Amino acid sequence: MKIIVCIKQVPDTSEVRINPETNTLIREGVPSIINPYDLHAIEAALQIKDQDPASTVTALTMGPPHAEVALRDAIALGVDDAALLTDRAFAGSDTWATAYALAKAAEKIGFDMIFCGKQAIDGDTAQVGPEMAEFLNIPHIAYVKKIEKIETGKITVHRLMDDGYDVLESSLPLLMTVVKELNTPRLPSIKGKMRAKKIEIRKWTRQDIGAEDSLTGLNGSPTRVSNIFAPVIKKERKTITGTPDEMAAQILDELKALHCIQPG
Ligand SMILES: Cc1cc2nc3c(=O)[nH]c(=O)nc-3n(C[C@H](O)[C@H](O)[C@H](O)COP(=O)(O)OP(=O)(O)OC[C@H]3O[C@@H](n4cnc5c(N)ncnc54)[C@H](O)[C@@H]3O)c2cc1C
Repeated sequence: MKIIVCIKQVPDTSEVRINPETNTLIREGVPSIINPYDLHAIEAALQIKDQDPASTVTALTMGPPHAEVALRDAIALGVDDAALLTDRAFAGSDTWATAYALAKAAEKIGFDMIFCGKQAIDGDTAQVGPEMAEFLNIPHIAYVKKIEKIETGKITVHRLMDDGYDVLESSLPLLMTVVKELNTPRLPSIKGKMRAKKIEIRKWTRQDIGAEDSLTGLNGSPTRVSNIFAPVIKKERKTITGTPDEMAAQILDELKALHCIQPG
């Protein structure tokens, strides 16, 4: 089984601070970690490898050169090898352009399964996994909380739902996004840490993965961020009354006043 795990390096805090001048995240002085959900994705892949030692697990990330640290941490946990997509051409990527680049890299690596975390704790959109599956034209299952069995060419999993879980069977190749209920991530071993220090991490540019310029980075990002801000947490409660149309109009006004949606 050839497995890819997508990991994102994120700031070690959920209290993300925003520069009010530039509307960008303040990353300076904040230590980085592997996105916590991605640790469960790594663990899922390693458990498959534990059962079938012929399997290979590759960690894949897109980020600045410093994201190499996250890949070395993944190697220390037992991942076989790693690839870092790093190029100025990737700067300004929204989730769609991120998913495109990761999909191009996954095609280059080859895979039977791709694991992603449910969401990243900084961007929080939970879009990258499903979008990547779309680019690769493969099925995906989100919120996987248990892998029940893997047979030749197919897999059965439990998908977490609000009111329980679904049992789903899919053909392979497949992309899964995982939740923390799936497993308990292991700790790095001494042997893994030694390997992580020495291993050469593959570093790929846009051209290395054959990504089109028009679909990469800012050029390939249909999203435009008009404003970014930390929401003010208010505990006020307001009761609205009237007909459904009147109440909808009042809700709209409230959301506009809170800048949750653009006026117009
Ligand atoms: C217009 C726009 C411009 C942006 N410009 C920048 C920018 O210049 N610099 C910047 O740092 N961010 C930028 N971002 C944020 C960036 O798009 C997101 O951080 C990124 O697309 C991932 O989205 P997310 O954090 O919501 O991940 P989610 O979709 O919540 O993540 C789900 C899972 O996908 C995988 N995943 C997500 N991102 C990566 C990754 N990079 N590598 C490997 N696996 C991953 C992980 O498995 C993760 O658990 C921009 C966003 C927008 C909308």
